[in-house]
This record gives sequence, C-alpha cells and structure tokens, in this order.
Amino acid sequence: MSQPHSHIVIIGGGPGGYEAALVAAQLGATVTVIEEQGPGGSCVLTDCVPSKTLIATSNLMAAMEGTRDLGIRFDHDVPAADVGRPGPASVSHALADAPRVYSRIRRLAAAQSADVKMRLSREGVRVISGRAKLARPGVVAVGSEEIRADTVLIAVGAHPRELPGAVPDGERLLTCRQIYDLPDLPPELIIVGSGVTGAEFASAYQALGSQVTLISSREHVLPNEDTDAAMVVEDVFRRRGMKVLGRSRAMAARRTAGGVEVSLQDGTVVTGSHCLLTVGMVPSTTGLGLGEAGVEVDERGFIAVDKVSRTSAPGIYAAGDCTGVWMLASVAAMQGRIAMWHALGEAVQPLRLGHVAATIFTDPEIATVGASQQDVDSGKVLGRVVKLPLATNARAKMDGFSDGFVKLFTRRNSGIVLGGVIVAPMASELILGVSLAVEQQLTVDQIAHTFAVYPSLTGSITEAARQLMQPAEPH
Ligand SMILES: Cc1cc2nc3c(=O)[nH]c(=O)nc-3n(C[C@H](O)[C@H](O)[C@H](O)COP(=O)(O)OP(=O)(O)OC[C@H]3O[C@@H](n4cnc5c(N)ncnc54)[C@H](O)[C@@H]3O)c2cc1C
Repeated sequence: MSQPHSHIVIIGGGPGGYEAALVAAQLGATVTVIEEQGPGGSCVLTDCVPSKTLIATSNLMAAMEGTRDLGIRFDHDVPAADVGRPGPASVSHALADAPRVYSRIRRLAAAQSADVKMRLSREGVRVISGRAKLARPGVVAVGSEEIRADTVLIAVGAHPRELPGAVPDGERLLTCRQIYDLPDLPPELIIVGSGVTGAEFASAYQALGSQVTLISSREHVLPNEDTDAAMVVEDVFRRRGMKVLGRSRAMAARRTAGGVEVSLQDGTVVTGSHCLLTVGMVPSTTGLGLGEAGVEVDERGFIAVDKVSRTSAPGIYAAGDCTGVWMLASVAAMQGRIAMWHALGEAVQPLRLGHVAATIFTDPEIATVGASQQDVDSGKVLGRVVKLPLATNARAKMDGFSDGFVKLFTRRNSGIVLGGVIVAPMASELILGVSLAVEQQLTVDQIAHTFAVYPSLTGSITEAARQLMQPAEPH
C-alpha cells in the first residue's frame, strides 16, 4: 500500500537522486531534491554525458580516417607525414576544432540538465540549489533552511581520486572533470590508469589527434574486463599509434616548463604536454553528518546498503556511486527507484546485479551483460562458450572493420543464455538482444530461431546461438 503523504528529501540530483524523485512523485509523495551543481548531477554535467559527447566526435573522426578504404577521397588529401600519422602515403585528414568540441559538450550537458530540471518541476518536485547535510533525525539542512523528512535518500555520488604525488592543477595535470576546460587539444596526452575511464579517454583523444601514452599498472588495459575484449581494444590502440605502457605504476606527476613528466615506479620518466589522471573515484560522503545519524560507511567512505537501498539508519536510504555498488548511471537510477518503492510501501524486487548491461565506449565498444568468461572458467557457472569473430561477418566487411567479436555464454544442460560480450562499433546498441535473452531466460534454440536481418552484425548473435545448439538426444 502506498503512503502518499510522505515527505521525501533527496540529497544529490544525479541519476540516483532524480530518478528516485520521479518515482516518489508518481506515488504521490511530497519530494524535495537538494543538489549543489545542477539537476542531472555529475552524470549529466561532468561525467557520463560530456564524455560520451566527446566520444561522438572522436568516433566520427576515427570513421573518417577509414574513408579511403571505402573509396572516398577528399579534395585536400595531405601527405601523412604532414599530419604526423602512420599509415597510407596520403590521408584525408580531419582536424578536431577543440574549442567547438568543448563548447558543444558544455552546451549539451547544460541542455540535458535543463531537461531534467523541467521534468522534475513538471512532476511537482521541489529542487533546491545548495549543499545539504543531515541535521538531526528526520531533518535535513541546506543553508539556513531545515526541511523535515519522513524518508531521506542520499545520492551524493563520487569524485575523481587523486594521487598524493600528482595533484591536479586544472591546466596540465587534469582530472576527467577538468579536461573540457582546456583551450585546445592536448598534443601529447599521458593518461594514468587504464580502467574504463582511462581507456575511453585514450581512445577518444587518439582519434581526435593527440599523441596518447596510456600508463597501465597491470599487464593489459581494462584489467577487470573480458580479457579477449580488452586484447582487441589494446591491439587497436597500438595499431593506431598509441603508446601503451603495461606493468607501469605511476608514482608522481609534475609540471615542467613546457609540459608534464610522470615518474614510474621503475624509475622511467614519461614526458608529454598534459597528464590526465583516471585512477578511480572516491565517494562524496564527508561532511554529510553520516556518523552522527548512524549511517555506516566502509573504510573507503562508501555507504553500506542492502538490496533495497536501506542504510544502517532507519528512514535513510542511499543510492548510486556513493554506495560503491557498481558505478553506472543505470545502477544508480535503479537503486534510487527501488529505495522509493520500498520506502513508500510498494511491491519491490531487490537489486539484481547479474543482469546489468554495461558498455565501455572505446572504439570499438565493449558491451557486456550477465555471466562472464571468468564465471565459466572458474566453474562458478556450468556454462558453454562460443566466440565468433566479426571479421567474417558480411556487414562488418561492408562497413570496413574487422576488430571485434560476439561471445555468448549458455548454461551447459539447458542452453539458457547466461550472458554475452560484444566488441564492435555500437556494441552498446547491439547488446540489447543478449540482455533480453538473459533477462527472459531464453535458450540458444529460441535465439537461433529468431530472424536477424541479412546483412547485419546481429546476424552474428543468432549464428553464435546456432553454434551452441545441442543435437537432440537420440531416441
Ligand atoms: C568520465 C566518466 C564517464 C562515465 N560514463 C558513464 C557511462 O557512459 N555510462 C554509465 O552508466 N555511467 C558512466 N559513468 C558513471 C556515472 O556517471 C555514475 O555512475 C553516475 O553519475 C552515478 O550517479 P549518482 O546519482 O550516484 O551520482 P552523480 O551523478 O555523481 O550525482 C551526485 C550529485 O550529488 C551532488 N552532491 C554531492 N554532495 C552533495 C550535498 N552534500 N548536497 C547537495 N548535493 C550534493 C553532486 O553535486 C552531484 O551532482 C561515468 C563516470 C565518469 C567519471
């Protein structure tokens, strides 16, 4: 039964906060969102939306580099040596106009934030601009105002981690939130950290025309992802001229007269014009009054929550990056919605992380859902695997790419699809078919009998399913 007259106060207006607000308003609660940057939060203003907007430009640049193979020539082909690129004798070389790229990013982020604000106000949600904290039980303070709350949702997100020996200055030593303030493209960009954020920016800036050096403390880039997929992306990076330094731990980074230098643990010094630090995120949970309110945090400051987003304090829920559950906008939003359904007495399904679809927006993209290769290899799931390279897919040949694959994991006896990995341009769009199969517990037979368009990349999904079909038992 819904409790329509509850007053919900939400601290943080990112996807964890604003999606929760929409659900609570729909259920008839009085809702206040307090956000210090702007509606949409860091997701919209500094992180997800800006980075994917940058990548929209860099993807087009990368596609243009491949146009010669597809039989397109530009009026002003220039010698490759003139643009400092490896490759054919002359290239149709597009140049990124950094100020326009960055101003488009800022415009788009602001427009998206305005859309979120409008949607919230249309649903009757009060949005307060400011920094909030828990004042005492059932009361949230923002500035001099105190707001009574039956339920509080904390969705304050996270911010980039800094290294003690590499403090960002916003000019040469940068976090991922500062890079759009540069007046121009960094000519020689050193990226410290080869996780998802580091790999995405490395891919984008290499395509935009920077000489990128990617420093990875592990053997390969994207160490926590499907190894086959990470190897494809690393191979593409190297072929495009990126310097990838594996097993290299950055200890310090400092400004020099004309640029930056990064010192590695083995004593090597790497020089460049700028350095981007992508070494993880820290929860923005200090100064909120959590301890006094009885909200438990772990040793890194992440708020402990259960599967319906409850914290250790009655009436206080938490969602999104500040919980450290899985730093994705979709997960933050789902945690926020679940919190509201639970708080307002609706039937609610606890958070299920086994079905989350995620994408790494490198070129090519890596999209994943459900079980992983590691789950199969370790015996955690009794599965079968098939991996089909896209190099033999007719559509991939027509589109002029050969780096990528489709991988499916199925339960050994039943043939139920457990998960998949797709490495391809727009893998983020292609993964939905596999997601549906995982969510609906479809079998490989059911996918194999589904029509895919010819020619299409999704044809490789149905083909992978066909290869996993098991012959009927002889009678
Ligand atoms: C570079 C980058 C790219 C990313 N790309 C993707 C992607 O492509 N897809 C994806 O799913 N995820 C992506 N992510 C992750 C995604 O941005 C986060 O998972 C998501 O933003 C989490 O949402 P949230 O609501 O928890 O927090 P946020 O979006 O961080 O919002 C929290 C808000 O709370 C506000 N706040 C903090 N403290 C207070 C306070 N005391 N009072 C008032 N307001 C406060 C902050 O100003 C902030 O705006 C990316 C992250 C980064 C860094």
